[in-house]
Amino acid sequence: SEKPRLIIASNRLPLSITENDGKYEATASSGGLVSALRGLGAASYLWLGWPGMEIKEEDRDPVNIALAKENAAAVYLDDQLAQNHYNGFSNAILWPILHYQSGVIMNPKAWEAYQTVNEIFADRISEEATEGDLIWVHDYHLLLLPSLLRSRLQAKKKKCPIGFFLHTPFPVDDFWRGLPVQEDLLRGILGSDIIGFHTDEYMKNFEGACEILLGTGTGTAEHHISHEDRTIKLGRYAVGIDHTRFTDALDDPAIQSRIQELGALYKGKAVIIGVDRMDYTKGLPEKLRGFQAFLGEHSEWSEKVVLIQIAIPSREEVKEYKELEEEVSKLAGQIIGKHATPHSTPLLYIHRSVSFAELVALYSISNACLLASRRDGMNLVASEYAACQQDRHGVLVLSEFTGAASFLKHGSILFNPASASGVSNAIHQALTMGREERKAKYEELRDFITSHTRCVSY
Ligand code: UDP
Repeated sequence: SEKPRLIIASNRLPLSITENDGKYEATASSGGLVSALRGLGAASYLWLGWPGMEIKEEDRDPVNIALAKENAAAVYLDDQLAQNHYNGFSNAILWPILHYQSGVIMNPKAWEAYQTVNEIFADRISEEATEGDLIWVHDYHLLLLPSLLRSRLQAKKKKCPIGFFLHTPFPVDDFWRGLPVQEDLLRGILGSDIIGFHTDEYMKNFEGACEILLGTGTGTAEHHISHEDRTIKLGRYAVGIDHTRFTDALDDPAIQSRIQELGALYKGKAVIIGVDRMDYTKGLPEKLRGFQAFLGEHSEWSEKVVLIQIAIPSREEVKEYKELEEEVSKLAGQIIGKHATPHSTPLLYIHRSVSFAELVALYSISNACLLASRRDGMNLVASEYAACQQDRHGVLVLSEFTGAASFLKHGSILFNPASASGVSNAIHQALTMGREERKAKYEELRDFITSHTRCVSY
């Protein structure tokens, strides 16, 4: 075929593997990325990644067969190595640095595991690739992979363009510099031919870090870097959602009846929805303190408003996440304790996942969506909420520190989550906004989500 094959590398495969009586099955995770890929226009694609668990040597053949049916192939890692790479370095060290959280301490053993895993990926992909394949590497777990891959491919005389996309923010050079191995990581990323970021800010930060910390030259054109006799292109690619998945769901009779039911339950109340992973970058304590301030400053609302906060359990093996969970539970308890009455509560705190159907129904009935991230690469919940507002024209209340804010500033109310009274004012403004203004803002949001329907395209 004339079109190149696309090889996608991400830490986790977007599949779950189940074993039943020695038989293995791979089920594709739902979600936009996989369906977006189908429409990408590559001749075919192969997804390479860690299957999410240790698979014994003797079970690998059947797993390979199950994965191949889903256009996927496994990079096998033993549990200890996967754990040190994923939680030890990626989540405990890189994630906070990328999101401007200070106080990170280097862990040499975790760093070693990080390098080893990136090498295993590079070995696996360089074997798999054939001349002309496009290789597309994803995210902060694989920052060293592009350059490791480049040298292996060169040794095997295979020419394959390498793209890299970072799904998180990239911090300003002076903050990034705090990480002792930052130079290795920058060189790792620079093994790519093209590097993508969500926003101009992240792209410029990366460009600055390379120039200041590595002394790379600026290329001949804007947003090009020259490094080791090569020119590397940087680009901004806002990742959107498949909004039709949400609008189609709104037409589903079962979801419609759930919407009616929830609508009746919250009749006469303003509903605010929050959906976040339980992660310190999401600013859940800031959101709750802001909501507490709102209830204190606007007691007329206390029986007329309800914040439904979904906190999706996340990374519970990492210490900081356990501490966060305790802080959030405590704050939620304080708000409920102070403001609940026998017939109403202004806060529902759900520390579980919800089904897609329930999520769509909750988005749909809500008068506002409140997202208070301290830092957030993009934030897809903002777009998902907007996709469910064609009738209600609910208000998006969005932290200015999300990637989404740089695209949705005219369609939302932006605020700084560090100020509780700022959060409170933003909530009040959302709940009292007139119909005309809500409609105008909704139209701004709609224009963005309907014109950014793809993940990154090469
Ligand atoms: N989501 C989920 N489980 C739930 C509720 C929501 O997986 O119980 C989804 C949500 O629909 C969204 C994603 O989780 O697509 C969160 O993406 P976002 O970009 O907002 O944040 P991230 O978790 O990637 O930092």
